[in-house]
Amino acid sequence: MTTRSIVPDLKQKQVWFLTGSQGLYGEETLKQVATQSQAVAAGLQGSADIPVTVVWKPVLTDSDSIRRLMLEVNANDDVIGVIAWMHTFSPAKMWIAGLDALAKPLLHLHTQANVDLPWGEIDFDFMNLNQAAHGDREFGYIESRMAIPRTTVVGHVSDAAVTTRVGVWTRAAAGRAATRGMRLARFGDNMRYVAVTEGDKTEAEIRLGVQVNTWGVNDLVAAIAAVSEAQVDELVAEYLDSYDVVPELVPGGDRHESLREGARIEAGLRGFLEEGGFHAFTDSFEDLGDLKQLPGLAVQRLMADGYGFGAEGDWKTAVLVRTAAVMGAGLPGGASLMEDYTYHLEPGNELILGAHMLEVSPALSSKKATLEIHPLGIGGKDDPVRLVFTADPGPALVVALSDMRERFRLVANVVDNVELPHPMPKLPVGRAIWKPRPDFRTSATAWLTAGAAHHTVMTTQVGIEVFKDFALMSGVELLVIDENTTTDAFQQQLRWNAAYYRLAQGL
Ligand code: MN
Repeated sequence: MTTRSIVPDLKQKQVWFLTGSQGLYGEETLKQVATQSQAVAAGLQGSADIPVTVVWKPVLTDSDSIRRLMLEVNANDDVIGVIAWMHTFSPAKMWIAGLDALAKPLLHLHTQANVDLPWGEIDFDFMNLNQAAHGDREFGYIESRMAIPRTTVVGHVSDAAVTTRVGVWTRAAAGRAATRGMRLARFGDNMRYVAVTEGDKTEAEIRLGVQVNTWGVNDLVAAIAAVSEAQVDELVAEYLDSYDVVPELVPGGDRHESLREGARIEAGLRGFLEEGGFHAFTDSFEDLGDLKQLPGLAVQRLMADGYGFGAEGDWKTAVLVRTAAVMGAGLPGGASLMEDYTYHLEPGNELILGAHMLEVSPALSSKKATLEIHPLGIGGKDDPVRLVFTADPGPALVVALSDMRERFRLVANVVDNVELPHPMPKLPVGRAIWKPRPDFRTSATAWLTAGAAHHTVMTTQVGIEVFKDFALMSGVELLVIDENTTTDAFQQQLRWNAAYYRLAQGL
């Protein structure tokens, strides 16, 4: 992470820990409830699996205080969600007004203070104090009756499976908060005649909270023209330090001026985004105005710093790249625009080569990238400078977002990036080679059947569980292609979802 990173520090985000009980138990018992729930909250807060700050709140015993607390949650931008645990029996009608008001993600933690049942010592008082087993069932009823989307996590807080699962949910909640406050700048419109990169931007703001608006590309050209030579010098020095720069681009090299132009584009673009408070952006090679190069290096480095990006005006993928970068904050790897480009179709060993014209984030690779210049046979501009590398082998996820008219659809494929089986010395772009799960034929069949896009975000930081929680809390359809996918079941799911998502949104 560079000092220019706009990936948030998740420790600055809070999740409030709410404990439900009731007044009938009396002061003494409620004090024990408070002490025990503080210990559970401390167990979450102390776990390295949970990247956010867990804040314990006093035990809740009546409808009014629950409702007021939920309104505080809604109003506080630092709070990204709430965890609720019914330590004792908290009659759930007390939660109706609060749950109705809550506009942020909810995790229902089903736990208890003790691991072991104290066989020799247990008496009625102990049983009466430690009754989440049925207190949480009462809460689950009202959540279900009110159709509250939530993630349910079961087990003792000392169990790593519990803290890991809660950690996943907190990352998704950070993603949800990120889309809600996201500002996206489009330079130019979509690539002409392309269908899947289009979409309803007003609906995206209603559903996801993202603000997607367009600026003329010559506003960006003006920002680039205002960049000083000192800013260019500073970036060039950074490039020489960070990458293996080919000789023609280094100072004194034949094409050094092209590298300086790349730096100028980066400084101008970065400044424009910083000044506007933007988190994501798009460009279009058909609409470059007076830009001298298609932005390659600049876009690659901005993605590595946590900006969302989509090419050819693809704002939906830009939203995903930014969201994935926030959800993966602090984890090794990165989030990048990716495009399914071409295949290796050897039976039984099929591979997908993913890349783009230029714009793949070097955060996908832990090796030093090379900084090169090559012609680009599209766009009619000067040769662009770009970083060339191969994504690290290991598990990854590709996710696409399509506008299906009355809803947005996420499609995710769990994949495994592999080592390059052979060098590709003539391919001058950042790339990844992967094997899709469960196998190439099933994956591609499902992907096409779902109408999923050719642009995706590839993340090597978070797995499918984070996206499942994100989709649930955002009310967005998610179709998963993983080791359990079969073509028949996937086809059925598409049919059911078509009915469900139309019904679920009412009239
Ligand atoms: Mn493309």
